[in-house]
Amino acid sequence: MSDELPYIENEEGEFAVPCQIKIAEDCAQLGEFCETKEDARDWVEDECWICSGEGYFCVECNNQVLRNIGNLQTKKMN
Ligand SMILES: [Zn+2]
Repeated sequence: MSDELPYIENEEGEFAVPCQIKIAEDCAQLGEFCETKEDARDWVEDECWICSGEGYFCVECNNQVLRNIGNLQTKKMN
């Protein structure tokens, strides 16, 4: 599964995991660049990014998703 994940590679040949959804205004956009894909993945996991199965998204975006769900539920109640 890990090989399927999207990675961003920089000019130094380092890898970072991008945020998959980028919907939050304060979205982290990208994890830290690391020498290996595994290190890049460890970094986002240390930051508590959420794995969707196809990629990761940052905590800020996860919070935004939860807020959106909350808004929908509020609308239904009205
Ligand atoms: Zn994000």
